[in-house]
Amino acid sequence: MPALFFTLFSAVLGAVMGSFFNVVAERGAQGRSWWGRERSRCASCGRVLEPPELIPVVSFLLQGGRCRSCGEAIPRLCLCAEAACALGAGLLAWRWGVGWAGLLSLALFLSLALNSLTDLHSGYIYDLAALLPVLPFVLLRSPGGLSSLFDGALGGLLGFFVIAAIIVVSRGGMGWGDAFLMAGCGVGLGWRLTALALYLGFMVGGFSALGLLAMKKVGRKTALPLGPFLAVGALLALLWGPSILGYWGWSAGWPW
Ligand SMILES: [Zn+2]
Repeated sequence: MPALFFTLFSAVLGAVMGSFFNVVAERGAQGRSWWGRERSRCASCGRVLEPPELIPVVSFLLQGGRCRSCGEAIPRLCLCAEAACALGAGLLAWRWGVGWAGLLSLALFLSLALNSLTDLHSGYIYDLAALLPVLPFVLLRSPGGLSSLFDGALGGLLGFFVIAAIIVVSRGGMGWGDAFLMAGCGVGLGWRLTALALYLGFMVGGFSALGLLAMKKVGRKTALPLGPFLAVGALLALLWGPSILGYWGWSAGWPW
C-alpha cells in the first residue's frame, strides 16, 4: 500500500514539476523571470489562466489542447513535459519504493527534466541548474557513508571528462553545459550507473538522430539538443541499470 501511494504521489509530483519546469525554461528562453507574481497566461490572447486550466495533463486533454477563449493550440511540448515527468517519476518510485534510492532517483530525474527543458526551449543548459542539484545528491548519498560519497565523486568526474573529451575532439556539437549536466548527474548516479547512462544516452540519441534524418525532420547539419537524450539514458540506467550490471556480476553501489 505505501508503495502504491508513493508511486501515485510521485507521478502527480512529476506532472506538477514538469509543468513548472516548462514555464521556467520557456520564460528563461525569453529572458523573463519565472519567480515573482506573474500569472500564467495564454501565449496567444493573453488571458490569465483560471486554476482548473493549470492542472497538468488533465486540463490539456479536457480542452482538446486549445485555449478556451481564443482557440489557439497550446504547445505540445507543454503536454509532453508534464506527461513524461509524470511517467518517469512514477516509474522510478515504483522501481525503488520509499527510501534513499527512491528519493535520490526522483531528485536526479527532476533535475535532468529541468535541464532537458531549458535545452529544448533555448538550446542551453545553465551551469547553475546543472550543478546546484549536486548538493541534494550528496546529502542523499551521505547515509551510505564514505564509500558512497567516493562513488558519487567518481561518477561526477567520469560524466564530466567523457563529455569534455568529446567536446575537445569533435570541436562542437556538444556544449560545456552537457559536461556540467553529466558531472552533476554523475554525483547522484555513482560511476557505474554514470557509465551506463552515457552509453544508453548516446545509443538513444544516435538512433533518434538517424530516425529523424530518415524521416527528413532534420538535416545533416541540424544541432540536436543532447540534454534530453542524456536524461533518457540516465532514466533507463536508474530503472534497469542495476539489473544490467548484475547480469555481469557487478553491483551498482549504494543506494542502488
Ligand atoms: Zn487564448
